[in-house]
Amino acid sequence: MDFSYTVEEEAFRTELRSWLEENLPDGWLEGEFKIPNDESSRIAFLREWQSKLFEGGWSGISWPAEYGGKGATLLEEVIYEQEMARVKAPPIINLVGLAMVGPTLLQMGTEYQKQRYVNKILSNKEIWCQGYSEPNAGSDLAALQTRAVKKGDKWIINGQKVWTSFAQYSDYCFLLARTDTSDKKHYGITAFIVNMHQKGVEVKPIRSINDRPAFNELFFNDAVAYDIDIVGEVNNGWSVSLALLSHERVGVARKVFRIQKVMDELIEISKKEKEDGYPLISNPIVRNKLINFKIRAKAVLLTYYRNLTETIRAGKPGPTGSVDKLLSSELLKEMYGFALSMQGPLSTLWLEDIAMKQDWQDDYLQSLGSRIAGGSSEIQKNVIAERILGLPKDIKY
Ligand SMILES: Cc1cc2nc3c(=O)[nH]c(=O)nc-3n(C[C@H](O)[C@H](O)[C@H](O)COP(=O)(O)OP(=O)(O)OC[C@H]3O[C@@H](n4cnc5c(N)ncnc54)[C@H](O)[C@@H]3O)c2cc1C
Repeated sequence: MDFSYTVEEEAFRTELRSWLEENLPDGWLEGEFKIPNDESSRIAFLREWQSKLFEGGWSGISWPAEYGGKGATLLEEVIYEQEMARVKAPPIINLVGLAMVGPTLLQMGTEYQKQRYVNKILSNKEIWCQGYSEPNAGSDLAALQTRAVKKGDKWIINGQKVWTSFAQYSDYCFLLARTDTSDKKHYGITAFIVNMHQKGVEVKPIRSINDRPAFNELFFNDAVAYDIDIVGEVNNGWSVSLALLSHERVGVARKVFRIQKVMDELIEISKKEKEDGYPLISNPIVRNKLINFKIRAKAVLLTYYRNLTETIRAGKPGPTGSVDKLLSSELLKEMYGFALSMQGPLSTLWLEDIAMKQDWQDDYLQSLGSRIAGGSSEIQKNVIAERILGLPKDIKY
């Protein structure tokens, strides 16, 4: 792969940089990353940020212009991700919509679905959640039990989902439900678009390890969907679900750029923080760890670029996204853990009591969930073994 960018690509970067300078929230460029902590102000802040991105034309970078995207190339989208990581831009609230549902609808949705939903995802007018996991169907997703039964012109949905991120303020759910109960596990699943604002949908928040109502239990009690809400074909939703997961893993893998930034930040703390009057960076154990991270961070980045080349050639993401997801989420977890260990006992402080400007505690706790969300690290290893290395299938008990 050629690592240099074209004149047009560099112009794209410059344009984005100057937009960010003008539009990032107050104090951001000076290193004051202040997102309100109380939930409703936090959501309002994040909604406003995403709307600003859309209005500035910085939403759906590689999505076709006819559906409201920027119509840029995948490489320009990579530049976008690099720049967002560089300035540590606020997170995206409609993450499921932008990183997963939108690309899946563009790949497999009907023309009606593209026209109806894609633009509203970009403009942040409609927020989405992903209804895959159930109490007994997480890694073994095909074991899902939520049923959808056709009655007249309606599909009647009953069942329970769990760990549904963002469901508490979502307008739509990308839901997998069983529509055939014969023994063939991967056949008989259908992907539905379900309106969350209806009588048969109940959302119960679950608090996450970093003490936020991050995800939810979802209960469907005679909720309704129609034929036009089916993505792909009835009973053949498994391939749709895999397409969405591939997009999810590519999205998660963009953490590779975050890793480069965290690397710089770790070096910065190790120079600033002292032990017995000496900066931590002079301690050989710290130096050894930093060098180990630096080498791995570079390897993750190069692997990501290689996989990206394959995605660009194929026109859609494949199983290599699992490699990026596995490597980046595991490395980030270790890096954040190391940042905490450099703080010693002060690492146990939380929120306004934290010892450093950077909230490593929150990042560390989030990183524990990131190695599970979108398919756990163990499952990524299975995908890599079976779908990339061609090794025999995992034993099923
Ligand atoms: C922060 C976060 C956000 C999430 N958001 C969503 C969401 O928005 N929508 C949604 O649908 N789901 C969401 N999830 C759920 C997530 O997709 C599941 O938690 C994940 O797929 C794992 O499933 P499980 O929890 O049922 O664990 P299990 O499948 O019960 O696995 C338990 C452990 O066993 C291991 N394991 C299981 N099978 C194997 C195997 N064959 N080989 C080796 N090890 C194995 C797993 O890796 C794991 O460590 C989220 C999870 C988290 C943590």
